[in-house]
Amino acid sequence: MAARAKAGDRPERRKPRKVPGTKLTRAQIDEMFARFEAHDPDPKTELDYDDPFTLLVAEHGGKVPRCREDLEALPGVGRKTANVVLNVAFGEPTIAIDTHIFRVSNRTGLAPGKTPLMVEETLDRVIPERYKHNAHHWLILHGRYVCKARKPECWRCGIRDLCAFDSKTGAPA
Ligand code: SF4
Repeated sequence: MAARAKAGDRPERRKPRKVPGTKLTRAQIDEMFARFEAHDPDPKTELDYDDPFTLLVAEHGGKVPRCREDLEALPGVGRKTANVVLNVAFGEPTIAIDTHIFRVSNRTGLAPGKTPLMVEETLDRVIPERYKHNAHHWLILHGRYVCKARKPECWRCGIRDLCAFDSKTGAPA
């Protein structure tokens, strides 16, 4: 028989559930992107992609295909470049996984994954729709300037309290 709650017992506190495939809760993910947006409402990519993108346009006389299959069928165009073109040129909510996004997604627990495709699929599933178009810009910029490869600058990170990384860094002495 189930034990009865005694007067004075505290109600059981449930731990908020993590979104499957991530180390964060729904509220943490939403808050992360709300902060990215508040900090930089209209992010511009500092394109690592300038070359493939320019080349692609110059290759095809400015007539760049709009669908993934046709883009990836072009010589030298992989999934990442196709995602960049779809996002930057056509405003699609695609996320191109470069080294910065891969690292930030893994460190924060937003989208842990061993391969870029795994990370992309999780990001696609968990990022709120309204943030998707800008998400890759925010994540790249965050990785490039704050969550740096060799040593993340956690002490000045705006999403520090939301991040699941175990070895957060303190301010330099
Ligand atoms: S707290 Fe540190 S590890 Fe986490 S996102 Fe910020 S800089 Fe990166």
